[in-house]
Formats: sequence, C-alpha cells, structure tokens
Amino acid sequence: MVCDSLRADMIRPDTAPTLAALPGIAKRYSGCRGVFPSVTRVTSASIATGCHPGRHGLLGNTMVLDEGAGLVCLSVAKPEFRERMRKATGRTLLAPTLAERLAGHGGAVVMSNVSAGAAYFQDPDGFGHVYHSAGSYGPGLVPVPDAQHLDIQKGEAGDAVMTARFCDEILRERRPPLGVLWLSEPDYTGHKSPLGSPEHLAAIRAADRCVKRVLDTLRGLDDDTLLILCSDHGMETTARTISVDDVLIEAGLKAGRDSSDVVTAPNGTATVIYRARDAKAGADDLQRFLASQDWVGKLFMGAALAEVALPVNGPVVAAVSLRAENRPNEFGVWGYGDIAADLDGREFTGFGQHGGVGPNEQRPFLFVSGPGYRDGTDVAAPVSHVNIAPTVLAHLSLPWDGMDGTPLPAAG
Ligand SMILES: [Zn+2]
Repeated sequence: MVCDSLRADMIRPDTAPTLAALPGIAKRYSGCRGVFPSVTRVTSASIATGCHPGRHGLLGNTMVLDEGAGLVCLSVAKPEFRERMRKATGRTLLAPTLAERLAGHGGAVVMSNVSAGAAYFQDPDGFGHVYHSAGSYGPGLVPVPDAQHLDIQKGEAGDAVMTARFCDEILRERRPPLGVLWLSEPDYTGHKSPLGSPEHLAAIRAADRCVKRVLDTLRGLDDDTLLILCSDHGMETTARTISVDDVLIEAGLKAGRDSSDVVTAPNGTATVIYRARDAKAGADDLQRFLASQDWVGKLFMGAALAEVALPVNGPVVAAVSLRAENRPNEFGVWGYGDIAADLDGREFTGFGQHGGVGPNEQRPFLFVSGPGYRDGTDVAAPVSHVNIAPTVLAHLSLPWDGMDGTPLPAAG
C-alpha cells in the first residue's frame, strides 16, 4: 500500500494516528531512501521490478524517446505512453514485473488513483489486473467489463472509495498472491498547497484513514498476509522554477524549443538531459555550463550517472538534482528546492515537489508487518524501493533472481 508523497517526518500522532502507532506491530525502515528521479512513475516501476531505473528502463515522469524523427520528451503520465514506448523501443520495461512473475501463481491485482502511467507501469504488459480511472484491464490488456471499471477522481473521496473496494473485493474475496493499493493523497493536495498547511494535513489524515481500513480488514482475516506500507518519495517546497530549455537555448547549447539536438526531461526538482549523437553542443560544453549554474545542486555525467543508477551508455548525457535549501516554510516544514519547469508550464512555487536527491524528497516511509516482521524494531540500514519486490517474492517462497534489490532484512 502506497500513500503517495508522504514524508516519513510528517507521520505524527496528530497528523497520522494509525501510521504513527504502527511501529508497535511492524518493522520500520528508517534508512529507506527513494530512487532517482524520486518521482511516482519511476518508483512504481522500481517497486514492480525490484530494479533501479538503469535496469528497468523507465527514466522519469517525463522521458525522451526517438519515435523516428529525433529525440522528443513525452509525459509518462498519459495512458498512451506505454504503447508509444513499445513502438519506439520494441518493449516497455526491460525487467520482469511482479505481475509477470506471479502470472502462473494466481496473478496480481493493482488499484491505483495516481497517474495512468504510474498505474500501468506496475504491469505494463498486462499479466494481471490493473484498475485505474483512465482504463481498467485484465490479463492480455483486455478491458474489464464496464461494471468493474474503477471510476473515481483523484483526492480524498476517490481514495476512500478505492480503498473500500480493495478491502471488500480484493482482500476479503479474491485473495490474489499480490494486491497493490496506491493512494493519490497526500501527493494530490501536496502539489497544490503548502506542506504542513491545513489542507495538506487533512490529506495526510485522509490517507491515514485508508490505512486504518486496510489494517482493520487484515485483522479480521487473521492470516499470514505480509503488509508493506510505504510512500514512493517525500516532498520539498518549491523555491524557484527554472526553464532549463530556455537557459540552454540562451547559452547556445540547444537550437530551439522543439529541437531534437539536446532535449531535457523535467522531473520536478530534477531534470534528465539527453543529447543526440550529432548535436552541436558536446558533453564537455554542457558540463562546463551546467557546473557554473546556481540552480544546479548536484550534477551527474558520464560514469557518475551510475551513482544515481541511470544508464551510462545511452542518450542520457546528464542528470541534475536542482539546488536544495535547508530552511522551514511558513508551517514549519523544512526543505526547499528549485524545480525544472514542467511540460505544461504549471506553477508550483510555495507548494510541494520532488524528483531529486534533496534530503526530504528522499525520505519516504516504509513499514512491513506480518510473518517475520512483527517485532516493532527500527532498521536503520540503507534500503529502498528495489527491496520491496524481493520481499514479496520471498514471502511467497518464490525466487527473486535478477533483481537489484534483496529481501528487506528481518533482523534489527
Ligand atoms: Zn508519487
């Protein structure tokens, strides 16, 4: 179960009473950090495959493809992205998902209220069931009957409807080996209100009520279900919005707004920069320029791309985590970051964002409760979302070969 965007430090008895009380019956992984870019669709693919983006191939919430006319940046959120990726590259994810690995063992069921892309990259090739407002599919990507479609809106109300259905239909009746429930809150509200504001705290409380409903349902079942509860990333408060394309054009490193020589993929507080082989600007030119920019917090190029688990030999020339600042906002929530202007030019100044390696966006929460994970201890060892899929498979006594991650340590 994923509470999208919930920072570990915002789980308090007054804001999230159910989650705050969990350490009594669950193991807490206080050393959990996110993947890079720390965005929903990438993390969804990492949870599904147990691999970092360099291995599973989904490199951002936006991603650059060559569909035959040169490099172009596309939003992974759109329902049609997976088909465009398949056409452009010959496949979707480069690593098998939990849904694929469980297809012969009873199948996986995913219910998600975030973007279509984040939902579909749990199971892009249709091995199990994925329910999402943009379209709900069964095995073979066959649409489910209309009466079974998940017709909800993002936000508290839709999350509550989805959670009730998940508890009644998936946990109580269908009992698949894997069920995934992905809430839109507090991400949906956190992107349009200040972190720690009354609106944001209400969204956290709403997500916490969904957690309570799942816990109450599982308690009634009295079985050996393993519950993994997490967020996909945290958030920082948006300080400045940088139009990275305009900055590169002005510096003579990119030909124009729609040019395919150097193409940036904005990912909130990160941007991933792709370079065509025949681009006029060389990697050295880009490195010299980016290193001089005050909005560039951390720069990863060449072999250093491996430090953030991105592919080093593809068209990605640079990854930037934008400048982070350690100061509190008006509600006492720490951490600011600059962001790269998104494809739609939306305004996020003063609101929550994520994507880079800032300390607060890289602080998701992670609890595991169930056989072997009940003793309430805190595990400080560094773990991340790539450890989740192997934990699921180990619990089901299935092999987890070929994954970047290993099962979450059960010992303190
Ligand atoms: Zn998210």
